[in-house]
Amino acid sequence: VKVINSAPELRAELEIARKKSRVGFVPTMGYLHQGHLSLVDIAKQKANFVVVSIFVNPMQFNNSEDFQKYPINIERDLELLQSRNIDLVYIPTVSDIYPNKVKVTLNPGELAAQFEGEFRPGHFEGVLTVVSILFNQVQPDLAVFGEKDFQQLTLIRKMVSDLQFPIEIIEGPIVREESGLAMSSRNSRLSEDGKKQAKALSFLLETFFKTLSEGNNSNLRDLKKLSINKTKDYYPAFDLEYFEIVNQDTLEKFPDDSKSSEILINSPRGLVAGYIEGVRLIDTAGF
Ligand code: AMP
Repeated sequence: VKVINSAPELRAELEIARKKSRVGFVPTMGYLHQGHLSLVDIAKQKANFVVVSIFVNPMQFNNSEDFQKYPINIERDLELLQSRNIDLVYIPTVSDIYPNKVKVTLNPGELAAQFEGEFRPGHFEGVLTVVSILFNQVQPDLAVFGEKDFQQLTLIRKMVSDLQFPIEIIEGPIVREESGLAMSSRNSRLSEDGKKQAKALSFLLETFFKTLSEGNNSNLRDLKKLSINKTKDYYPAFDLEYFEIVNQDTLEKFPDDSKSSEILINSPRGLVAGYIEGVRLIDTAGF
């Protein structure tokens, strides 16, 4: 697999490729797992020239410990990508992405005020800024992002639509461990017991949607309380940060007194974040 380490080199390679190929792009922060590879497979189906980038973007980390401890293993990543037969791996340096001290950044707008954006101030400004820089460097026809980072996916779609990037955004479903735990590079920081406790996030989503679909016309406040309490009983090590039920098209929260029947017919999606062993994890599910 061809590895490119600088922006000018990338430009030269892509100038040739773009003439005859549909370019697909999968941006990642590395420490790849099957979730990332599933996005690569989607890109391979839809494009005939696929670029994967690996860049741990300092600008999107609001917590310096999270950044310092973010796992990196380029050698292993390249081995995994080798098996996927992609065309280019772009591994830029910080100065390839941010040649100047960045002063012009992207304002993600009101969709970023809640959930991840609320608990990680500046996160989405960093994400949208780096994604727009990468889009300008790669100029892909399409790019694939994971459902796992649902608010991020929504914001990227919004950015592409509002700022008129001529790029098709494709969503890849969440890949999970057999236990139900959503794959994440951060899972590598968990102990064996931590991995078991980390099932709390998918358990909470499953419990909530199961209770919701059983009806009984309960209200959202009670349904949430019930599923959170059950999750805390089973997974005491889980430190919940937020659990919200939103309409998946608008990301608007359902009011606490909404009835289950109303929620069910309005494309509900659960968004959850929390800590296990000091590692921050997120998960999501729709219905
Ligand atoms: P990251 O390396 O965490 O920035 O993720 C790169 C891309 O992979 C993003 O579009 C994520 O949403 C996606 N992704 C992360 N985890 C998973 C997963 N378990 N299943 C599918 N896609 C994922």
